[in-house]
Amino acid sequence: MTEHLNHFIEGTGCEASDGRRIPLVDPVTEQVYGSCARGTADDVDRAVNAAHHQLEQGAWSQLDGAQRARLLLKLADLVERDTELLADMDANAIGRSPIEPRRMDVPNALANLRAAAGWANQLEGRTIPSGGYFGTKTLSYTVREPVGVVGAIVPWNSPLMITVWKLAALLAAGCTVVIKPSEETPQSALHLAALAREAGFPDGVINVVTGYGAEVGRALCEHPHIAKISFTGSPEAGREIQRTAGVLFKHVALELGGKSPQIVFDDASFEDALRGCTLGLFANQGQICAAGSRILVQRGIADRFAAALADAAQAVKVGDPREPGVQMGPVAKKAQFDRVNRYIQLGIDQGATLLAGGVSTPERGWFVRPTIFANANNEMAIARDEIFGPVGTVITFDSEEEAVALANDSTYGLAATVWTTDLVRAHRVAGAVKVGAVGVNCWSPLDANLPWGGVKTSGIGREGGFGGALAYTEEKVITVLLPK
Ligand code: NAD
Repeated sequence: MTEHLNHFIEGTGCEASDGRRIPLVDPVTEQVYGSCARGTADDVDRAVNAAHHQLEQGAWSQLDGAQRARLLLKLADLVERDTELLADMDANAIGRSPIEPRRMDVPNALANLRAAAGWANQLEGRTIPSGGYFGTKTLSYTVREPVGVVGAIVPWNSPLMITVWKLAALLAAGCTVVIKPSEETPQSALHLAALAREAGFPDGVINVVTGYGAEVGRALCEHPHIAKISFTGSPEAGREIQRTAGVLFKHVALELGGKSPQIVFDDASFEDALRGCTLGLFANQGQICAAGSRILVQRGIADRFAAALADAAQAVKVGDPREPGVQMGPVAKKAQFDRVNRYIQLGIDQGATLLAGGVSTPERGWFVRPTIFANANNEMAIARDEIFGPVGTVITFDSEEEAVALANDSTYGLAATVWTTDLVRAHRVAGAVKVGAVGVNCWSPLDANLPWGGVKTSGIGREGGFGGALAYTEEKVITVLLPK
């Protein structure tokens, strides 16, 4: 497979203004298999201006909600037609099994596009009783207007799905967009933009500029015609974006990382909790923002549960994800491989008990063994930092109060799961944990109708659901004087 990918600006592919390129590397073989354009500030300027033209005076600006909905539904049908192609694109780029994106990412993207088609016609304003104007009656009402041109900055771990979370909602709201995919995974965003053209979206509504965060991402944050940055990625980049775009008074929505607790009480269904924790730890090689990497287990079952998790980790078949039977591929890139190994070594050095896995030294490919630590405490680096790899940290607790305190003793607050058969306790703990999403006896589902996002270092704002579309609008109030 050789791929040489370019930007997609105003409906056509084009190279970077200075012709430079970024190599694309296969995480399984460590071989360069292609390249993408290394975008410049000039490329961003062209793309933003095309999007701005469509927003202000192009054919897009004339469409009503129902017409936008029809386009979204057509796009959904085309994404569905190309399910396998899109799943393979995302899987190959990061060394993931294509089964996961086929079952999860593409269906979720479809659900978001179809749900957003429903919202496009529902972005209603309000009529508001008001006090009049110097003794004369008034009528005040609000309208929802598109926020403007959006810069959508996306990570590499679930490229299509996360791009569509942003795209579906902002198109429903009538915005236009410049997407900056991760430099490692530009394929599915570029294909999505081509599908949107096939669906009939006017050229310039959806543009894709590939390249590095410090170049393309930064230029988007600084561009005067960008009204909102919608970012998913690391807290470090989020902080930088907040600094750059925030001082220019742009809207900034941040979907950041997590260190999500799985709280397993001793009355939980042992098998269900084990299955759920294993899924939450190892899906997508642990490279999931909501990965349940902090496993808090009540003392009575802690040793047995940790041992069972270790057995599950050892049973995972690691290898080339394109081969049948393989359950886990490599992590996505060299920097990630080094990071995961560094944390595993830190866990050992700081005194946690290594029950499965360990530092990996594969001959070729960025393969990491699924790793379980037990007897850890919440001060260790493996309990505090987001590792973004297949590494689970088991911490023991005695009481419900201690479990909640441990869960909340984190700079992050994205998701949590409570495993218990005590209904009252389930609701009590769900209410007490400071996160954006709680699952009770399940992993928080990614559902197009549910809001998604975090508190604290996990982010600002919500994507998904009707509120996700509203977040791409401004509410304008209009007051009419009504003299007798
Ligand atoms: P990253 O922050 O390195 O990069 C994300 C995107 O931002 C990339 O496109 C990158 O090029 C760009 N970028 C980097 N620095 C930038 C800057 N200074 N200005 C503008 N753009 C910049 O993150 P990553 O390694 O691609 O993804 C992993 C992170 O994403 C993890 O922390 C993970 O938890 C998080 N994530 C969060 C969610 C969520 O929904 N909350 C979902 C998926 C991933």
